[in-house]
Amino acid sequence: MYDYHLHSNYSDGDFLRAMVAAAASAGLSGVGVADHCMVVSTDWARESRRELGFNLDTTYERRREAIESLREEFDLRVFDAAEVDYEPGHEAEIRAFLADADFDYAVGSVHALDGANVHATGHFEGMSESRRRELVERYFEKLESLVASELFEIAAHADLIERNPALRGFATREQYERVADAFASSRTVPEVNAGRVRSEYGRFHPTTEFFEVLRERGVEFTLGSDAHAPDEVGPLAAELRAFVADSGLDPVTLAV
Ligand SMILES: [Zn+2]
Ligand SMILES: [Zn+2]
Repeated sequence: MYDYHLHSNYSDGDFLRAMVAAAASAGLSGVGVADHCMVVSTDWARESRRELGFNLDTTYERRREAIESLREEFDLRVFDAAEVDYEPGHEAEIRAFLADADFDYAVGSVHALDGANVHATGHFEGMSESRRRELVERYFEKLESLVASELFEIAAHADLIERNPALRGFATREQYERVADAFASSRTVPEVNAGRVRSEYGRFHPTTEFFEVLRERGVEFTLGSDAHAPDEVGPLAAELRAFVADSGLDPVTLAV
Protein backbone atom coordinates (compact mmCIF):
# COMPACT_ATOMS: atom_id res chain seq x y z
CA MET A 1 0.00 0.00 0.00
CA TYR A 2 1.13 3.51 -0.87
CA ASP A 3 0.29 6.50 1.31
CA TYR A 4 0.70 9.47 -1.01
CA HIS A 5 -0.05 12.23 1.46
CA LEU A 6 1.62 12.91 4.77
CA HIS A 7 3.45 15.85 6.28
CA SER A 8 6.81 16.49 7.91
CA ASN A 9 8.55 19.31 9.74
CA TYR A 10 9.15 20.91 6.34
CA SER A 11 5.58 22.17 6.89
CA ASP A 12 3.26 21.41 9.84
CA GLY A 13 4.19 17.81 10.60
CA ASP A 14 6.69 16.03 12.82
CA PHE A 15 10.33 15.28 11.99
CA LEU A 16 10.77 13.93 8.48
CA ARG A 17 12.87 10.96 9.56
CA ALA A 18 10.33 9.93 12.22
CA MET A 19 7.48 10.15 9.69
CA VAL A 20 9.30 7.94 7.18
CA ALA A 21 10.34 5.50 9.93
CA ALA A 22 6.68 5.25 11.01
CA ALA A 23 5.61 4.55 7.42
CA ALA A 24 8.21 1.76 7.16
CA SER A 25 7.02 0.30 10.50
CA ALA A 26 3.42 0.41 9.27
CA GLY A 27 4.42 -1.95 6.44
CA LEU A 28 3.76 0.55 3.65
CA SER A 29 5.41 -0.06 0.28
CA GLY A 30 5.69 3.65 -0.36
CA VAL A 31 5.10 6.98 1.30
CA GLY A 32 4.77 10.45 -0.20
CA VAL A 33 5.96 13.41 1.81
CA ALA A 34 3.54 16.08 0.63
CA ASP A 35 4.39 19.13 2.69
CA HIS A 36 2.34 22.28 2.36
CA CYS A 37 3.66 24.54 -0.33
CA MET A 38 2.26 27.96 -1.21
CA VAL A 39 3.40 29.74 -4.30
CA VAL A 40 0.36 31.78 -5.29
CA SER A 41 0.60 35.55 -4.83
CA THR A 42 -2.59 35.99 -2.80
CA ASP A 43 -2.70 37.88 0.51
CA TRP A 44 -3.97 34.75 2.22
CA ALA A 45 -1.04 32.66 0.97
CA ARG A 46 1.46 35.35 1.92
CA GLU A 47 0.04 35.60 5.44
CA SER A 48 -0.11 31.82 5.85
CA ARG A 49 3.48 31.41 4.68
CA ARG A 50 4.61 34.01 7.17
CA GLU A 51 2.52 32.93 10.14
CA LEU A 52 2.57 29.16 9.72
CA GLY A 53 6.06 28.83 8.28
CA PHE A 54 4.93 26.94 5.16
CA ASN A 55 8.07 27.59 3.17
CA LEU A 56 8.66 24.44 1.16
CA ASP A 57 8.84 26.74 -1.88
CA THR A 58 12.28 27.74 -0.58
CA THR A 59 13.34 24.56 1.27
CA TYR A 60 12.41 21.74 -1.09
CA GLU A 61 15.98 21.25 -2.30
CA ARG A 62 17.22 20.68 1.24
CA ARG A 63 14.32 18.32 1.91
CA ARG A 64 15.14 16.49 -1.34
CA GLU A 65 18.64 15.69 -0.07
CA ALA A 66 17.16 14.41 3.19
CA ILE A 67 14.67 12.23 1.30
CA GLU A 68 17.50 10.79 -0.78
CA SER A 69 19.35 9.64 2.32
CA LEU A 70 16.17 8.26 3.88
CA ARG A 71 15.59 6.18 0.74
CA GLU A 72 18.86 4.42 1.48
CA GLU A 73 18.06 3.92 5.11
CA PHE A 74 14.51 2.55 4.89
CA ASP A 75 13.08 -0.32 2.91
CA LEU A 76 10.20 1.49 1.19
CA ARG A 77 9.76 3.99 -1.61
CA VAL A 78 9.85 7.59 -0.41
CA PHE A 79 8.33 10.18 -2.73
CA ASP A 80 9.38 13.78 -2.90
CA ALA A 81 5.99 15.50 -3.20
CA ALA A 82 4.16 18.68 -2.21
CA GLU A 83 0.64 19.67 -1.21
CA VAL A 84 0.25 22.86 -3.19
CA ASP A 85 -2.46 25.45 -2.56
CA TYR A 86 -4.56 26.08 -5.64
CA GLU A 87 -6.31 29.36 -6.42
CA PRO A 88 -8.22 29.98 -9.67
CA GLY A 89 -6.46 32.56 -11.82
CA HIS A 90 -3.01 31.67 -10.46
CA GLU A 91 -2.40 28.63 -12.68
CA ALA A 92 0.64 30.15 -14.44
CA GLU A 93 2.46 30.77 -11.15
CA ILE A 94 1.79 27.24 -9.96
CA ARG A 95 2.71 25.67 -13.30
CA ALA A 96 6.03 27.55 -13.48
CA PHE A 97 6.95 26.60 -9.91
CA LEU A 98 6.08 22.91 -10.39
CA ALA A 99 8.06 22.74 -13.65
CA ASP A 100 11.05 24.21 -11.85
CA ALA A 101 10.80 22.18 -8.63
CA ASP A 102 10.20 18.87 -10.44
CA PHE A 103 8.62 16.95 -7.57
CA ASP A 104 7.76 13.26 -8.02
CA TYR A 105 4.14 14.44 -8.06
CA ALA A 106 1.99 17.25 -6.69
CA VAL A 107 -1.15 17.17 -4.58
CA GLY A 108 -3.44 20.15 -5.18
CA SER A 109 -5.63 21.61 -2.44
CA VAL A 110 -8.30 24.22 -2.00
CA HIS A 111 -7.64 25.46 1.54
CA ALA A 112 -8.62 29.14 1.11
CA LEU A 113 -12.25 30.20 1.20
CA ASP A 114 -13.48 33.75 1.74
CA GLY A 115 -9.98 34.83 2.78
CA ALA A 116 -9.76 32.18 5.51
CA ASN A 117 -8.78 28.53 5.86
CA VAL A 118 -11.67 26.15 5.20
CA HIS A 119 -10.81 24.64 8.62
CA ALA A 120 -11.41 27.93 10.48
CA THR A 121 -14.63 27.34 12.41
CA GLY A 122 -14.66 30.86 13.86
CA HIS A 123 -14.62 32.54 10.47
CA PHE A 124 -17.78 30.80 9.26
CA GLU A 125 -19.92 29.94 12.28
CA GLY A 126 -21.45 33.40 12.72
CA MET A 127 -22.61 33.58 9.11
CA SER A 128 -26.18 33.06 7.93
CA GLU A 129 -26.99 29.66 6.51
CA SER A 130 -27.51 31.13 3.03
CA ARG A 131 -24.04 32.71 3.13
CA ARG A 132 -22.48 29.43 4.23
CA ARG A 133 -24.28 27.62 1.40
CA GLU A 134 -22.88 30.20 -1.03
CA LEU A 135 -19.37 29.57 0.26
CA VAL A 136 -19.76 25.81 -0.05
CA GLU A 137 -20.75 26.42 -3.67
CA ARG A 138 -17.68 28.65 -4.09
CA TYR A 139 -15.51 25.86 -2.61
CA PHE A 140 -16.77 23.35 -5.18
CA GLU A 141 -16.28 25.86 -8.02
CA LYS A 142 -12.65 26.23 -6.96
CA LEU A 143 -12.24 22.46 -6.75
CA GLU A 144 -13.75 21.99 -10.20
CA SER A 145 -11.31 24.54 -11.55
CA LEU A 146 -8.40 22.76 -9.79
CA VAL A 147 -9.38 19.48 -11.41
CA ALA A 148 -9.82 21.07 -14.86
CA SER A 149 -6.40 22.76 -14.60
CA GLU A 150 -4.67 19.34 -14.54
CA LEU A 151 -1.78 20.93 -12.66
CA PHE A 152 -1.71 18.13 -10.09
CA GLU A 153 -1.58 14.34 -10.06
CA ILE A 154 -3.83 14.22 -6.98
CA ALA A 155 -6.58 16.47 -5.64
CA ALA A 156 -6.57 16.42 -1.83
CA HIS A 157 -9.57 15.89 0.48
CA ALA A 158 -12.25 16.65 -2.13
CA ASP A 159 -14.91 17.63 0.41
CA LEU A 160 -12.73 19.51 2.89
CA ILE A 161 -15.73 21.70 3.82
CA GLU A 162 -17.19 18.69 5.70
CA ARG A 163 -14.31 18.95 8.17
CA ASN A 164 -15.72 22.22 9.42
CA PRO A 165 -18.92 21.90 11.52
CA ALA A 166 -19.98 25.37 10.29
CA LEU A 167 -19.87 24.25 6.63
CA ARG A 168 -20.87 20.60 7.07
CA GLY A 169 -23.94 19.08 5.47
CA PHE A 170 -24.56 21.78 2.84
CA ALA A 171 -22.96 19.99 -0.12
CA THR A 172 -25.48 18.88 -2.74
CA ARG A 173 -25.63 15.92 -5.08
CA GLU A 174 -25.52 18.36 -7.99
CA GLN A 175 -22.17 19.71 -6.72
CA TYR A 176 -20.83 16.16 -6.32
CA GLU A 177 -21.90 15.34 -9.87
CA ARG A 178 -20.27 18.44 -11.34
CA VAL A 179 -16.97 17.72 -9.61
CA ALA A 180 -17.15 14.04 -10.53
CA ASP A 181 -17.67 14.97 -14.20
CA ALA A 182 -14.57 17.17 -13.99
CA PHE A 183 -12.53 14.29 -12.51
CA ALA A 184 -13.82 11.88 -15.15
CA SER A 185 -12.19 13.98 -17.89
CA SER A 186 -8.99 14.99 -16.03
CA ARG A 187 -5.63 13.36 -15.40
CA THR A 188 -6.01 14.48 -11.75
CA VAL A 189 -7.35 11.82 -9.40
CA PRO A 190 -8.95 12.37 -5.99
CA GLU A 191 -7.67 10.65 -2.88
CA VAL A 192 -9.32 8.76 -0.08
CA ASN A 193 -8.08 10.93 2.78
CA ALA A 194 -8.00 9.55 6.34
CA GLY A 195 -6.82 12.76 8.02
CA ARG A 196 -9.91 13.19 10.23
CA VAL A 197 -11.11 9.59 10.62
CA ARG A 198 -9.87 9.41 14.19
CA SER A 199 -10.90 12.90 15.30
CA GLU A 200 -14.11 14.93 15.76
CA TYR A 201 -15.22 14.47 12.14
CA GLY A 202 -14.73 10.71 12.23
CA ARG A 203 -15.10 10.08 8.49
CA PHE A 204 -13.02 9.80 5.35
CA HIS A 205 -12.93 12.35 2.57
CA PRO A 206 -14.90 12.03 0.42
CA THR A 207 -18.16 11.09 2.17
CA THR A 208 -19.76 7.79 1.17
CA GLU A 209 -22.29 9.59 -1.05
CA PHE A 210 -19.65 11.62 -2.88
CA PHE A 211 -17.39 8.55 -3.18
CA GLU A 212 -20.21 6.63 -4.87
CA VAL A 213 -20.92 9.47 -7.33
CA LEU A 214 -17.23 9.51 -8.25
CA ARG A 215 -17.07 5.74 -8.64
CA GLU A 216 -20.17 5.71 -10.86
CA ARG A 217 -18.13 7.78 -13.31
CA GLY A 218 -15.16 5.41 -13.17
CA VAL A 219 -12.97 7.85 -11.22
CA GLU A 220 -9.95 6.26 -9.53
CA PHE A 221 -8.40 7.17 -6.19
CA THR A 222 -5.08 7.26 -4.40
CA LEU A 223 -4.80 6.78 -0.63
CA GLY A 224 -3.56 9.42 1.78
CA SER A 225 -3.33 9.39 5.57
CA ASP A 226 -2.69 13.16 5.81
CA ALA A 227 -0.76 12.18 8.96
CA HIS A 228 1.18 14.87 10.78
CA ALA A 229 2.68 12.77 13.60
CA PRO A 230 4.49 9.41 13.57
CA ASP A 231 1.96 7.79 15.92
CA GLU A 232 -0.84 8.57 13.41
CA VAL A 233 0.80 6.82 10.46
CA GLY A 234 0.19 3.18 11.45
CA PRO A 235 -3.38 3.62 12.76
CA LEU A 236 -4.40 5.66 9.69
CA ALA A 237 -2.82 3.08 7.38
CA ALA A 238 -5.00 0.48 9.15
CA GLU A 239 -8.07 2.71 8.59
CA LEU A 240 -7.21 3.01 4.89
CA ARG A 241 -6.71 -0.76 4.60
CA ALA A 242 -10.13 -1.29 6.16
CA PHE A 243 -11.67 1.25 3.77
CA VAL A 244 -10.18 -0.57 0.79
CA ALA A 245 -11.42 -3.93 2.08
CA ASP A 246 -14.96 -2.60 2.75
CA SER A 247 -15.36 -0.68 -0.50
CA GLY A 248 -13.55 -3.07 -2.84
CA LEU A 249 -11.55 -0.10 -4.12
CA ASP A 250 -8.43 -0.82 -6.16
CA PRO A 251 -6.30 2.26 -5.38
CA VAL A 252 -4.19 3.86 -8.09
CA THR A 253 -0.42 3.61 -8.06
CA LEU A 254 1.11 6.71 -9.62
CA ALA A 255 3.63 6.23 -12.42
CA VAL A 256 6.53 7.85 -10.56
ZN1 LIG B 1 -4.80 19.85 3.03
ZN1 LIG C 1 -2.29 17.54 4.00
